Amino acid sequence: MIEFKNVVKQYPNGFRAVDDLNLLVPEGEICVLIGPSGCGKTTSMRMINRLISITSGEILIDGQPNTELPAEELRRQIGYAIQQIGLLPHMTIADNIALVPRLLHWDENRIRRRVDELLELVGLDPDISRDKYPRQLSGGQQQRVGVARALGADPPIMLMDEPFGAVDPITREVLQAEFLQIQERVGKTIIFVTHDIDEAIKMGDRIAIMRDGHLVQYDTPDTILAHP
Ligand code: ADP
Ligand code: ADP
Repeated sequence: MIEFKNVVKQYPNGFRAVDDLNLLVPEGEICVLIGPSGCGKTTSMRMINRLISITSGEILIDGQPNTELPAEELRRQIGYAIQQIGLLPHMTIADNIALVPRLLHWDENRIRRRVDELLELVGLDPDISRDKYPRQLSGGQQQRVGVARALGADPPIMLMDEPFGAVDPITREVLQAEFLQIQERVGKTIIFVTHDIDEAIKMGDRIAIMRDGHLVQYDTPDTILAHP
């Protein structure tokens, strides 16, 4: 469970990107965060895993303020996938996916098994992909690797910031459907940022609509469609 309580983020230049945000994401649900560019979606995500600090208020992870969790614990609990993918170009696909498990000191046999399992989960053939470099894969394949990497150490929480934003519409639909299948099997607590209302309705158990740094509506897709 992830809970934002009166969260404010004021950047050093004085701009309040997030302004009194309250949001509760129950365990095992996909919460889609949607809203115009600049409304504070990415800022909110980055505060959860402490890539940026919170100005005031708090973010609770399973009831505990995230500021009290050691960095390694945050890494274990939270996977992060972003539109820019961010695969390291000089590392193989396997090494990219193994990043967090290695930081968590998994042994190499377990890491190898996990990499192959994840490649299969996201629909890539491990024997073909494992030793390639990111530039040798298509954009859609790289996006799959980005999701596999975020799932690396099997975190109970996933933050997904337009994870399928960099691919063509057809690949995007395939990735959405596959991701929902994965979610049915693994049941994680997910915050999923998108600009695309169709994607929001398809992916979300609930949809959180943000504007100017706070929530303006938070409901199931059905309710939002009925009362837009
Ligand atoms: P979204 O993800 O909804 O597009 P962001 O969270 O990226 O929005 O940004 C929210 C607002 O905060 C934007 O107006 C952005 O320009 C501003 N912003 C983001 N990072 C910084 C920063 N480091 N310093 C000042 N303003 C920032
Ligand atoms: P993203 O959408 O992934 O947040 P951005 O292009 O919004 O990417 O931001 C890239 C970087 O620039 C981030 O570190 C963000 O904090 C910073 N940034 C964004 N907007 C501003 C701004 N108005 N002033 C200063 N830094 C900003």
